[in-house]
Amino acid sequence: MDCQYLEDLHELFLLGALAEQDEIKLREHVATGCPRCAERLGEAALTLFAILQSPRPLRNDPGARARLLRRLRAK
Ligand SMILES: [Zn+2]
Repeated sequence: MDCQYLEDLHELFLLGALAEQDEIKLREHVATGCPRCAERLGEAALTLFAILQSPRPLRNDPGARARLLRRLRAK
């Protein structure tokens, strides 16, 4: 399934920060049962969970911050 273009949207989707158009696209695609996106959503959820769980996550893990920012900017 060709969903390369959705690759950087999962975190934003979970944050509710996607443009409506992109959210609908991703939602409809995930509803088709794409295993790759299911896995990516799982990873994105864990990333966000880890960030939200720690009081100072970005300072403690600059690598994670860089990865997240890169992902968020790579649209
Ligand atoms: Zn997919």
